[in-house]
Amino acid sequence: MPPTASRLQVFTESVIRGMSRLASRHGAINLAQGFPDFDPPEELLVALERATRGPHHQYAVTWGAPRFREALARKITRFSSVPIHPDEHLVVTCGSTEAMMVAMMTACNPGDKVIVFSPFYENYAADAILSGAQPIYVPLRPPDFDFCLDELTRAFEQKPKAIVVCNPSNPTGKVFSRDELMQILRLAEQHDAFVITDEPYEHIVFEPRQHEYFAALPGAFERTITCNSLSKTYSITGWRLGYVQAAPQVIAQARKVHDFLTVGAAAPLQEAAVAGLELPDSYYAGLRELYTRKRDVFLPYLRETGLPFTEPQGAYYVMLDVSSLGFARDHDAAEWLVREIGVAGVPGSSFFREPEHRYVRFHFAKREETLRAAGEKLVRLREVAASRKRG
Ligand code: GLN
Repeated sequence: MPPTASRLQVFTESVIRGMSRLASRHGAINLAQGFPDFDPPEELLVALERATRGPHHQYAVTWGAPRFREALARKITRFSSVPIHPDEHLVVTCGSTEAMMVAMMTACNPGDKVIVFSPFYENYAADAILSGAQPIYVPLRPPDFDFCLDELTRAFEQKPKAIVVCNPSNPTGKVFSRDELMQILRLAEQHDAFVITDEPYEHIVFEPRQHEYFAALPGAFERTITCNSLSKTYSITGWRLGYVQAAPQVIAQARKVHDFLTVGAAAPLQEAAVAGLELPDSYYAGLRELYTRKRDVFLPYLRETGLPFTEPQGAYYVMLDVSSLGFARDHDAAEWLVREIGVAGVPGSSFFREPEHRYVRFHFAKREETLRAAGEKLVRLREVAASRKRG
């Protein structure tokens, strides 16, 4: 048999999805792969039923069904104040996952460098490598996961073609301040690099933080390739609806990549999702409250374990420092958590460039009863850590 492509040897299968499989094998509560265990808003369910009876069963326009793109453009402009034209600035994709791949392939030539902050959502390195680019990493350091401006400046001096900014950030829960984003923009301008943003948690931000849309920063629009998705905002991760938003010249190229990758996102789901995009502002305020409550239910259990953890400013992830449990590798800790405690998380090392084995990432996009059940199990870690210390 001939060998498969060597670029695939460089990275592993997704650890996040792997942990989901392990969780279901052992019947553990799955706080690994970030997706809700509750339904989307009723308006979407009604629209989905209606869409099944409509003329939406064949390919939609490759870069997005017109009605969906129009509603999307209105919704983006409503929240970011960036004037978005449905025919010029958008390509509808299969989730932000495809959007990121499209953005990377649109921006980069083989051999180009791309700055990725570490820790990072595990797809970014794979996206860079699959598009022939080479990631260069800049650390974000706990507790606040700030970057060091000198380090970032030095990374830009290597002439990267793009930088990836996940905001609010998975897995750190960091919400970048306007000042930080402006520093990134200045460097990108100085070195003529694209800024590829991934913003699916735009509406999951905790007080007093606010989400700043990178594309809305003064002078940023032309060099920003925004990737986003409807998955988290409307609790429809399985619908696989996302988009790339950029300047018309970039979108003209991105359409080609998307067309040859997937042809298009599912037509009936685009039709149904219009109902989500048309929800009033109160829906988004409610979503923010909902996730603030989930955070406030889940984090006290972690506090009770006595183990340190990261405080999310946005998104729905928290990294628990399990180093006191005495495992050499976080993968061992995560597997033990599934088997012995009954809760699945993601080994933190899959998000880090550095050999960092301290963390397991949990998400709290679950019903309160699921979070309480997981919390009750996790508090056992207090005794385990204490007995390991004694032993
Ligand atoms: N973004 C989610 C996570 O980090 C889900 C990832 C995925 O499986 N697409 O867990």
